[in-house]
This record gives sequence, C-alpha cells and structure tokens, in this order.
Amino acid sequence: MPTREEVLAELSKVKGPDLKGDIVSLGLVSDVFISEGKVIFSITVPAERAQELEPMRQAAEKVVGKLAGVEKVLAALTSERQGGAGTKTPPVRPAPAAADMGSVPPPMQRRAAHAAPEQAAKPGVPGVKAIIAVASGKGGVGKSTTTCNLALALQANGLKVGVLDADIYGPSIPRLFRVSGRPEPVSGRILKPLEGYGIKVMSMGFLVDEETPMIWRGPMVISAITQMLREVAWGELDVLVVDMPPGTGDAQLTMAQNVPLAGAVIVSTPQDLALIDARKGLNMFRRVDVPLLGIVENMSYFLCPDCGGRHDIFGHGGARAEAEKLGVPFLGEVPLDMAIRINSDAGTPVTVTDPEGTHAAIYRDIASKVWAEIERNREGGQRAAPRIVIES
Ligand code: ADP
Repeated sequence: MPTREEVLAELSKVKGPDLKGDIVSLGLVSDVFISEGKVIFSITVPAERAQELEPMRQAAEKVVGKLAGVEKVLAALTSERQGGAGTKTPPVRPAPAAADMGSVPPPMQRRAAHAAPEQAAKPGVPGVKAIIAVASGKGGVGKSTTTCNLALALQANGLKVGVLDADIYGPSIPRLFRVSGRPEPVSGRILKPLEGYGIKVMSMGFLVDEETPMIWRGPMVISAITQMLREVAWGELDVLVVDMPPGTGDAQLTMAQNVPLAGAVIVSTPQDLALIDARKGLNMFRRVDVPLLGIVENMSYFLCPDCGGRHDIFGHGGARAEAEKLGVPFLGEVPLDMAIRINSDAGTPVTVTDPEGTHAAIYRDIASKVWAEIERNREGGQRAAPRIVIES
C-alpha cells in the first residue's frame, strides 16, 4: 500500500481549478484515508463549480489508481460554507482523530459572497423522485429502526423505495434488513445496491470493516455519503430514505446541505431531554432550508403484553405537543414494544414479518403522512430553491 505522502505526491500532479497550481499545494485535498487497497479523499471546490470540475476529480482518481497496491480510489468533490457575520460557521474540517489522517489543509473558499444556484450545488439523483432524511438529535432513540420500518411501510403503500445508510459511525441498516455482502460494480465506478425485503440498500457497512468508519471525520463522511448517493445504481425510485448519522453536528449539517433533500423526518423519544435534542434537529434542517416532514415519537408508550394495558411510562405526548408548538406535522406514536426491538435486532422488521399487526399499521400510517407531506410540498410548488451561500 502507498503511504499518504506517496498519494499526495501523485495528487500534486493534478492541476487546480483554472489550471493554476496543483490541488495539493492549493490546499484542496482533504485527509487521505488509506485502508486495504482503498484510498479515499475529497477535494474542496466552490459549490457552484462542482460539475465543471468533475474532470479534475477524475484526474485525481486516475493518478492515485496507478500506484502499486491501490485497488480502488474514491475521490469526491466537496464544498464548504464559510460563515459570514452573525452566522455560526460549520467547520467542516475538524481535527483528524487518527494518526493516518494527516494534516488538514485550510479550505479554499475566500471568495466574495456568492449564492450558488441549487441545481449546480445539489443536483438530484437521476431516477430518484424524492430523497428524505430520517434524523434524530441524539443516538439510541430508534432512528434506524424507524428508517427501516418507514421504508418498508412506504413500500407496503405501493412505492418503490431505497435506503441509504448514512449513519457512517454505526451502520445498522445491513443488520436491520438482514443483508450482507459486497456491492458489485455494474459499470465503471457505479455499484449495484444490495436488496433486503425488496428494498435497495446501500451502506458503508458493506464496503468497510465495522470499526473503520469510526475514525472518519467531516470531509471523509461527506465524500463517502456523496458517493453512496451518486455512484450507486439506484434505478427508478419514488423515494430514497436516508438514515442520517445521529446528532446535529457539523457533519450532519453539511450533509443536509449537500444532499438534495425533499424533506426530513425527526425521530424523538418522549422525554424532555430528547425533545430538546429533537428541536436542535429541527433547527438544523431549517437552517439549510430543508422542509420538515414531521416528528415521530418513538418508544412513546408501553403496551403491557400481560394485561394489554397502555402505560405512559415516559411521559408520552411530549413530541406531539412540541410538534404543535413548532408548527411541524406530528406523524405518529410508536410504542415501546419488545416485538419491535427483537425483530429489529434480528433483521426481521415488524412491518414485513407481521404486516397485519398493530405496529405495521402504525408505520404504514406514518408512511402515508410522510408521503402526503412530500406531495403537498411538491404541489405547494416550486419552493424557493434552497441556497448554499459561500461567503468570504
Ligand atoms: P438509533 O438509530 O437512534 O441509534 P436504533 O434504531 O438503533 O436507534 O434503536 C436503538 C435500540 O432501541 C435498538 O435495540 C432497537 O431495537 C430499539 N428500539 C427502537 N425502537 C424501539 C421501540 N419502538 N420499541 C422497542 N425497542 C425499540
């Protein structure tokens, strides 16, 4: 395997935008991640020039691909936002966490304030009609379980569905859908997604060892997600459901900016604490002008398997009240139930294993509301295009 220095030496042969300098000395190359024959990095470009600079990205992949021991090169173009006065800047390049992550070059954007047209900054994925994110303010609230059952419920409602597991720090979609294996290339760099219960799924869990993604930080995460979004043969889909990484940090914010989202679903538990986190989640999407499709209250109440009684052990109802207060649709309540847990963890989600059961009905109802919101937003028109502003 080449060293990071050898990779950078090759990359310094690639000319920068406008054929000035080279991408390494211009400080455009992110951390270089090298693992088992794979070399992964991103190149920072102004958002509005991403399409035009595609040949530069390809040239970078080509030179690195020639190094001995390199089997696969994943290079992605990323863009960053510099905060202006009064804006909290999302620093997209936090300090590297592992020794092999190397130094982090300064970002390039020192440009005049410039609003990029949405199409250039966030082109859609051909064949995919709508991309939605499932997010939560913190981990462990059932975000992935909700993503999985929501996707299956959307399918049960007659839609063609795919799932992109962007929870790169803990990809659980392969387990939830009970799929494993390596995605095969279909042509060039395009990978064929795997399939679970009739749903096309793509996850970093298929591409790298379980522990590997844990050391990734900002730009690497964004490169990986961008590639899973754009270099996968999703085919014709009504909706692609993205399981976001938990939390509302910079990686999530940048992702929300980079993925052309039709909307976001926020998952929360009823506890106050989680609601505060959920509010952060809502605000994150609002900041980047992504429509909020609604809030799901998970582990909302406990249905006693013995007496059949319903127990509001967690102070259920918090999410509904919060949703009303915030003017966001309330999508539904999912009970805390061992059947949901056991089936999620076993890769036999309730929506397919017990389609006639009460849980499946709840998820289908949530799915109908989500889809209705997407349609309503669509009809409501050609919303003002979200803008990514790159400021000096
Ligand atoms: P997150 O993606 O927010 O980290 P997960 O979906 O992985 O959360 O869920 C965390 C744990 O809680 C898992 O073991 C899952 O099976 C369980 N879980 C999620 N939702 C429910 C529910 N409604 N009832 C019981 N257990 C649940």
